[in-house]
Amino acid sequence: MPPPIVRFAPSPTGLLHVGNARTALLNALYARREGGTFILRLDDTDRARSEERFVAAIGEDLAWLGIPPDRVERQSARTALYDAAFDRLRAEGRIYACFETEEELEFRRRRQLAAHQPPVYDRAALKLTDAERAKLEAEGKKPYFRFKLERKKIAWDDLVRGHVEIDTASLSDPVARRADGTWLYSLTSVIDDIEMGVTHIIRGEDHLTNSAAQIEMFESLGAKPPRFAHHNLLTLPGGEGMSKRLGHLSLQALRASGLEPLAVASAAVLVGTAGAVEPVQSLDALASKIDFARISHGPARFDPADLEALTARTLHAMAYDSAAPRLEKLGVGGGSSFWEAVRGNLSRFAEAALWWRVANEAISPVLSPADLEICKSAAAALPPEPWNEVTWEKANWDAFVEAIKKATGKSGRALFHPLRIALTGEERGPELRALLPFIGRTRTAARLQGKKV
Ligand code: GLU
Repeated sequence: MPPPIVRFAPSPTGLLHVGNARTALLNALYARREGGTFILRLDDTDRARSEERFVAAIGEDLAWLGIPPDRVERQSARTALYDAAFDRLRAEGRIYACFETEEELEFRRRRQLAAHQPPVYDRAALKLTDAERAKLEAEGKKPYFRFKLERKKIAWDDLVRGHVEIDTASLSDPVARRADGTWLYSLTSVIDDIEMGVTHIIRGEDHLTNSAAQIEMFESLGAKPPRFAHHNLLTLPGGEGMSKRLGHLSLQALRASGLEPLAVASAAVLVGTAGAVEPVQSLDALASKIDFARISHGPARFDPADLEALTARTLHAMAYDSAAPRLEKLGVGGGSSFWEAVRGNLSRFAEAALWWRVANEAISPVLSPADLEICKSAAAALPPEPWNEVTWEKANWDAFVEAIKKATGKSGRALFHPLRIALTGEERGPELRALLPFIGRTRTAARLQGKKV
């Protein structure tokens, strides 16, 4: 099989949310795993609602997730292609002009619903005589255009949903072009998918009926339809759908709150599948877990609270090599041993910088006189330098604690809490014995004497 060509095709009309990330990741990671191409196609033919700031945000979001596209296309730059296909289909009678106003269509839809009929467009425009059509045009009425469905059974083998069958007689002929000449996505999408050689259309199940109509469009343009994979949609915890326009769970907001992109990616891909939602250490690892057949068929609730635990678990297991470039940007040194000393305690990556400052910059802990006495006993029991992980291996640490216990009669929290406050100024944090080599003996001794160094 040739390598797949896939596309993620958002309209730049809002910020991408986690549900959009699911679609983008399923496409990008499938392409990555199979050595294929991942195209970002911006469906920006709706000029009134498309905005450049959203185009920029989509690029940033995909980069943050680690899935920059191999190729970027904009529908607004491809209208010549659409014109040509449109003319051809119109000449063949597969596209026809209609003259109803929105109000007329709405009125008919309501009448059909009241009569318990499906609200399918009645093709009244096809019954117009040439004279009637000419009259409407002479009155200055501009037509909009529909694609004429064959009203037949369309079936395909969906990678997620298995055998799908939809009778296009149950659908309205899709509008291909508005009266103002602007394009609607369904036909232009097919024209692009053919021209770009798209092999797999991976998108939400809200497009299931579109796919039946689009399969007819592929056929009308002489092309074999690609494979389809309609994944389930993610909802908010209350069950409501996510909306790009309402700004639900935007990737930008998740990024700003310091969540790990790998945690967001693994949740976006694995929620609502038969697999466990668990942290991954690379996008390749996540790609290997993608199995279209194991994606559930109904909507899946997405709880943003899960991202906290997933972020922590991602950080706790993150290899130094993955962390190193980001540590450098934060000005955190100490190499792999510092990272290994602190990672198990992080709930956000940036907290590594806090612990680096605790080790290297003055702190101002507040100690009671009684606690200071305990700390002074600890200072007297400190082993000589050099200090490293070997000096502070568990047996030596236990001996140090034993000595303080003996001198003060304290143990447990009564002993450790004053030490932690004196040495870090924080109530909680990484294991002290792992931090000590980075604080160093001089500073440790001074802090235990109550000095603000
Ligand atoms: N612009 C469409 C959407 O965002 C694209 C759907 C698709 O074909 O993937 O719903």
